Amino acid sequence: MKHTLVIFQCCKRKNSTEKFLEKDFDLDSRIPRTKKILHAAVKKFSNMGIIDVSSKPITALSRYDGHFYRTSGLKLKIAEEIKNGSYEFLIMSAGYGFVHPFQKIHDYEQQMKGKTTTYWLNKGLPKVLEEFIETGRYTRVYGFFSKSADYRKIFEKVNWHKIKELKEAGYFYIDGVRGASKVLNLSASLMLSLLNNNFERKPKSFKDSKIVFVNTTHLRIKMKKLAKDLLAHYRQNSFVCCGKIIEPRLNIETVFEPGTHGGIYDNDPSEWFPHYDVEYKCYNCRYYEHYTHDADGFILSLTINKVIFDFTTREFDIIENDKTIPAGRLPDDIEYNSEAFQEYFEKVLEKSHS
Ligand SMILES: [Zn+2]
Repeated sequence: MKHTLVIFQCCKRKNSTEKFLEKDFDLDSRIPRTKKILHAAVKKFSNMGIIDVSSKPITALSRYDGHFYRTSGLKLKIAEEIKNGSYEFLIMSAGYGFVHPFQKIHDYEQQMKGKTTTYWLNKGLPKVLEEFIETGRYTRVYGFFSKSADYRKIFEKVNWHKIKELKEAGYFYIDGVRGASKVLNLSASLMLSLLNNNFERKPKSFKDSKIVFVNTTHLRIKMKKLAKDLLAHYRQNSFVCCGKIIEPRLNIETVFEPGTHGGIYDNDPSEWFPHYDVEYKCYNCRYYEHYTHDADGFILSLTINKVIFDFTTREFDIIENDKTIPAGRLPDDIEYNSEAFQEYFEKVLEKSHS
């Protein structure tokens, strides 16, 4: 049983020689609900001439031949791990959405940026990945993307907090290095190195480059009787304001529609879920702290006084006269439960006073 899914991006340079004869992969059977998203796109891009249907289909791992893929040992390692290792792989593709390395694809010419990214986001490409993870029951998902390309935007829009068996998800990118070819080689080498150590350690640097790991797994409080336990959890960290202990108050709202980003489930009530609220209020100084959780105990947002932080998008907002004003995004290299996060939050709070 493979538990870890590794995802990387497609590339511009393509090859037309099959290097993995006899290999094939049936992606459709793994994504029965969302395969239509990919089919519709392939049809559209074929009609537009972006996908060259006259080219002979070959495995994606043979087709892609850019700097990432030409890194010594990479293709063989991927083929080997699919065959006997503990990893599964998917390639995020501007033309096909997602392809398995052994899936046969035509030649095509399209990059993940601008209108193409918007198309994929609107059509629900993140949902495809969500379903693939669920049917494969992967507990860890790691992406390797370029900092400047849009692949990571698709990855971030997956509803990570809704995937039941997931333990950790996130993506790596190389920072502080110039030159696309160098960055892609480093990214592939980093992936090889992490495959070899089973992602046990996540290095902060690699061959003189800076590594950023963006953890997209949300804070999770695992509990059976959620409402009661949530309250107990918040009581544990007793909260004192103006010399008094402030008791947390729990509210449960009936339904909450998650921030869907287009796609096929927009108005489907089965996608709604209970929404738990915990708040602290000091009636003396009017200090206010407010957490929202989904039905599984994931923290969705934290509000302190007039500042809201959204765990799904990493964005800060300041509330002013009933309007929300964007106040920036938490830097990728800051983890949610770190001191750096608290410091960053305080900075935004200071901004909200001025
Ligand atoms: Zn107070």
